[in-house]
Amino acid sequence: MKNQAKIAYSRQTIGEADINSVIKVLQSDFLTQGPVVPRFESSVASYVGTQYAVATNSATSALHIACLALGVGPGDVVWTSPITFVASSNCALYCGAKVDFVDIDPLTANMSIVKLSEKLEKAKKDNSLPKVIIPVHYAGQSCEMSAIYELSLKYNFRIIEDASHSVGGCYLDKLVGACVYSDITIFSFHPVKIITTGEGGMALTNNISLFDKLVSYRSHGITSDPLKMLPRPAEEIWNYQQLFLGFNYRMTDIQAALGCSQITMLDSFVSRRREIASQYDSMLSDLPVVTVEQSVNARSSYHLYPIRIRKSICGKTQRDVYDFFKKFGIGVNLHYIPVYRQPYYEKMGFTRGYCKEAEMFYSEAISLPIFPNLTNYEQTYVIDILREILGE
Ligand SMILES: *Cc1c(COP(=O)(O)O)cnc(C)c1O
Repeated sequence: MKNQAKIAYSRQTIGEADINSVIKVLQSDFLTQGPVVPRFESSVASYVGTQYAVATNSATSALHIACLALGVGPGDVVWTSPITFVASSNCALYCGAKVDFVDIDPLTANMSIVKLSEKLEKAKKDNSLPKVIIPVHYAGQSCEMSAIYELSLKYNFRIIEDASHSVGGCYLDKLVGACVYSDITIFSFHPVKIITTGEGGMALTNNISLFDKLVSYRSHGITSDPLKMLPRPAEEIWNYQQLFLGFNYRMTDIQAALGCSQITMLDSFVSRRREIASQYDSMLSDLPVVTVEQSVNARSSYHLYPIRIRKSICGKTQRDVYDFFKKFGIGVNLHYIPVYRQPYYEKMGFTRGYCKEAEMFYSEAISLPIFPNLTNYEQTYVIDILREILGE
């Protein structure tokens, strides 16, 4: 235990091909809005089996324009999971809507279908049904999308999958992103995620009218398609028109070039992550920690590998274990503080105890390092440290 390893919880994997791909764009005519963004969009769309893809400068902006495309605005309510990054919820606030949270299933840390059904039934009586629900595929494991889809037919809400963790994951033999059970799926290409473009995100859909709106909101609400423009006097030059209030959420060709080479590595990244996860499963099998359960319907891409430290089982607190890992240079992390416990959300009136399972999860979870280049030696070191603090 003498050598002080420095191991992150996640990090990008960049190869020679990635570097060359970016250099090629730097030497070309276009740095942004060139031919590489559409090439990246079609490679992701064809990989996951979706009709349309809209690349953006982050998943956060993709979530924002996805909400706008579905008509979210003041007076609407959007529901998501409390165990997620704040972006899954902030996107609704950007639109002037309200947010609310559905507690998690303690076994998977994904939105609980039972809690969701109960909350919908109650909201129907109060006339406060959500316009959109944003399930989050926590750690890379898809939510039970067919059940959520069934509920959407009964209670008439739309679905945005926040699949920021789940690029390359599967649900019922289809890749996450195929939008079989949702209107729009969102991917993130932040460096800690499965593949990266530096910063970047994408919205995927099979609905052409949603696609048109996403494209428009991504770039100021401007169109240069003569068929979409309003009639104007022939002597005036109208090479573009702004029809809506949109944003500059465009991805650059430099980022897309990195994405194009990264996606060729996606299968191998996901298999390596799954291999590391299964090694953790067996290394942890005789230790007094709780792991996340895997549904038979989902095949996780393992963005995260969380364990739960429960004092009543192992005699140590989450803080004891977290601090001990940090002392040995292991960059464990915490995913997530329930969104509504954030000071900004508390100001909206959310209080402690609102989602009991989410809070329990928050008080126990620690994400162990997982990324394709984590070596077996480093992984063994992580488990050695854990054994030592647990006194096993
Ligand atoms: C990372 C993440 C986001 C935001 O992604 P960015 O690309 O950094 O904007 C949104 N939702 C979840 C669940 C995430 O993990």
